[in-house]
Amino acid sequence: MKIVVLKFGGTSVGSTNRIKRVSKIIISYIKKKYKVIVATSAMSGVTNELVRKSKEISNDFLAEEYDVLVSSGEQMSCSLIAGRLNHLGYKSRSWLGWQIPILTTGNHSASRIKSIYKKNIIKYLKSGGIPIVAGFQGINSHSRITTIGRGGTDASAIMLARFFKAQKCIIYTDVDGVYTTDPNSIKKAKKIKVISYDEMLEMASLGSKVMQPHSIQDARLNRIDINVKSSFKNLPGTIITKRKNILSDKIIRGVSFTKNDAKVTLIGVKDKPGVAASIFEPIYKNSINVDMVVQNISSNGKETDLTFTIKNEDLFKTQKLLKKNKKINFRKLIVDSKVSKVSIVGVGMITTPGVTYRMFNALAKKNINIIVISTSEIKISVLVNRKDLNNAVKVLHKEFNLEK
Ligand code: ASP
Ligand code: MG
Repeated sequence: MKIVVLKFGGTSVGSTNRIKRVSKIIISYIKKKYKVIVATSAMSGVTNELVRKSKEISNDFLAEEYDVLVSSGEQMSCSLIAGRLNHLGYKSRSWLGWQIPILTTGNHSASRIKSIYKKNIIKYLKSGGIPIVAGFQGINSHSRITTIGRGGTDASAIMLARFFKAQKCIIYTDVDGVYTTDPNSIKKAKKIKVISYDEMLEMASLGSKVMQPHSIQDARLNRIDINVKSSFKNLPGTIITKRKNILSDKIIRGVSFTKNDAKVTLIGVKDKPGVAASIFEPIYKNSINVDMVVQNISSNGKETDLTFTIKNEDLFKTQKLLKKNKKINFRKLIVDSKVSKVSIVGVGMITTPGVTYRMFNALAKKNINIIVISTSEIKISVLVNRKDLNNAVKVLHKEFNLEK
């Protein structure tokens, strides 16, 4: 069987008119003799609205009920698509996570798909039907409804492609692919034709919002090629694949950024084993994600300064946690809520010397101050003042020839 998995994001199914358009896309694959499995998100805005309602009811809404609630948007969109296909004379039905079933592990609202039961869907495909699967949801071993994290329909689609051994997995979204940087802020951003899993994973985690990071990890582990395309324009899009499949001389694939970072510095913390752990323990226990961390070497062997970054929205809570943390001592707490992170990403930097120098030099020429630096094998991130962000992205985009 020649199977294709098509994922439609919230904007692509955002209105009944859009659902009509999506139905035509689905039919175009049927006409090409594919067996089609659809994974759909909720209509845009619906999930946010449900989250908002849960908060109105309680700021400590029960996790089990939260998943039942927020997964309901997908029930609506998958039935609308199936309904439209039937209207057009095609056999189709909706399939909720528990009906398949899609089994998940892990905590509510952050579960991961473990397995998908295949038999019924295979039978349905063979009979000429088009299954429309509700994304984002599954059930756990207690038969409770679970969700797999915001934007989770990407991961639903990739896991469907994996379990059904699909030839293609196409992510239909509201942009026509992955860009070298955000095309909304940098006009010269170019669409990337092919990108590796690793680069895409870095870019998604560093602020490029096209796909959910987990889903790219799932695709990488299972070696599933992904095609990201627009559901509004019929253009080729971007292919996400393994490094071997990429022929390109670009050292850097893209420039990502996050706007709303905050920097926290603890001046004069004791320089002895266990201090960093004591600082971060309550922060992690409150599910606050720490991003960049730097610790200075101590000049007197007794005290040091420690700086780290978090999301701006977590700043208030983090300050409170640090102040009431009895396990640590520090002389002063300094925070800066107006910083942003810019990153360059590319597997080419593994084999090319001088990338770091070129990055820092390009920023220096524009008089942009670097506050914190962090690197991995295939990315270099710098923290800058938010007012410098746009310029920094522009100059790096140019420096690494991404405009061409
Ligand atoms: N509807 C869910 C969300 O908005 C899942 C998804 O769109 O993929 O996060
Ligand atoms: Mg969405």
